[in-house]
Amino acid sequence: MKYFKVAILSAAVAGLAACGGDNDKKSSSNNNSNAAIIENTRSNAWYSDAEAKIAATTQANLNRGAAKNVILFVGDGMGISTVTAARILAGQLKGQSGEENNLSFDLFPYTGLAKTYNVDAQTPDSAGTMTALISGVKTDVGVIGVNENIVRGDCTTVAGNELVTALELAEIAGKSTGILSTARITHATPAATYAKSADRDWEDDGDMPAAAIGAGCEDIASQLINFEPNLEARINGVDVDGIEVVMGGGRRSFLPKDATFNSPDAVSSVEGDRTDGRDLTAEWKTRYPSGNYIFDQSSFDAIDTESTSKVLGLFNESHMQYEADRGNDVAGEPSLSEMTEKAIKILDNNDNGYFLMVESGRIDHAHHAGNAYNALNDAVELSEAVAKAVELSNSDDTLIIVTADHSHVFTIAGYPKRGNPILGKVVGIGSNSPSLAADGTPYTTLGYTNGLGLRDLGNETDADEAYNQAIDAGRKDLSQIDTQAPGFHQEALIPLGSETHAGEDVGVYASGPGAALVSGTNEQNMVFHVMNYAADLVNKANSKQVAP
Ligand SMILES: [Zn+2]
Repeated sequence: MKYFKVAILSAAVAGLAACGGDNDKKSSSNNNSNAAIIENTRSNAWYSDAEAKIAATTQANLNRGAAKNVILFVGDGMGISTVTAARILAGQLKGQSGEENNLSFDLFPYTGLAKTYNVDAQTPDSAGTMTALISGVKTDVGVIGVNENIVRGDCTTVAGNELVTALELAEIAGKSTGILSTARITHATPAATYAKSADRDWEDDGDMPAAAIGAGCEDIASQLINFEPNLEARINGVDVDGIEVVMGGGRRSFLPKDATFNSPDAVSSVEGDRTDGRDLTAEWKTRYPSGNYIFDQSSFDAIDTESTSKVLGLFNESHMQYEADRGNDVAGEPSLSEMTEKAIKILDNNDNGYFLMVESGRIDHAHHAGNAYNALNDAVELSEAVAKAVELSNSDDTLIIVTADHSHVFTIAGYPKRGNPILGKVVGIGSNSPSLAADGTPYTTLGYTNGLGLRDLGNETDADEAYNQAIDAGRKDLSQIDTQAPGFHQEALIPLGSETHAGEDVGVYASGPGAALVSGTNEQNMVFHVMNYAADLVNKANSKQVAP
């Protein structure tokens, strides 16, 4: 049952109770003999909505391998407070008071908590956490696709410590595979699906120390282009056809540091960063002659999902734009939900199914910049992308998991009244004017424990503009400031050059075959094992391996 049917069912249950006819009760399979006792209560939506959710969740399918398809959504930095605030913002944008609203994945039948710490760190980073999510093994901060025996930054410690990812297993098993991110496609989260690196920062050869290159380590962008031969070399007896769909930002790591290689929509005078002279986009086209390399909205729109076998989309020199800032992109770029739709329509042409990882990479970046507006808008767009995936897949054969790699020091505070604008100043129950703190000035509901502090940038939709001003942490007088404007950056207590991650658990939300395994509080690497059980990835990959 698809999640949106829960909403339909809950409306039906509420409708039945509202009609109040006894004959309706007989036709409802969910009713039991006690129904008359709570007849009046059932007309209450709080009651009937929860009742419908119980009915939906008891239909879980726990058969190993029942998931033909797996979609993993990662909201980078999307802690619980971000999910709550985004849900309220999305509701308020629809004209509701907001608190009662649900993001698409709020309606998933199973939810658990993940402990996000890295092996060597109480508060984690995306490299270690995504390696745990996608490989089933918790590891150190800052390393990609390798276990804790690695020494960060030491190329010579990579060999023998490489992990196998769910995407690689799916690829070996004959499924189609895809990676989407609004961050650079070489950034930590997407990189952990395909690369093995002693340092997350080795995005191209220009980022690597000479010793690492000399010792034979390959930069992350090059590993993406060489994914197919590398995987076949690493695991004996497997034959793969490469990743079908790759879309995100980060073109600079794929192009030579030479202006003649600039894309038509380059923003820097020299777009590329590579010092080895290689044009990886050309290498990709040579490897996949029938594949489509795209870099802007029009070439994205032109992709025919039924005839396209492979896509490499690099829509920006660095990260893609914040969703609220997307209209300002030079040549246009697709939204996360548009990329998700395009990817699924290409991947589902394979009768063996698919594995897709979708990262909303810039929730994290907006938080680092201390800008709740963009963090929440990007989280709402992630919710839209998840809704699109639900719509385009079948919950009988598709496991969808939505989670975060880690949280941020982002709080929802004070005693604002119901429906108070989530980006606004705290206004208490029974009042129409902002509550005043002990210092006599108003304060916002949303805030950060640390970071750059207040910025009043008006209608600026690029959160990263915050880095162009000096740190201004601490308490400020907000009485004359519009805190709901896109360019408002919340106050921060402790001055830091960038707001930090937080160490508490994050939510894991699941729907489809195997989703019932997402329950309780678990180590983050459990997520891989849920996907593996649901799609039987290791066994299916093993069965494809032929003895050399
Ligand atoms: Zn971060």
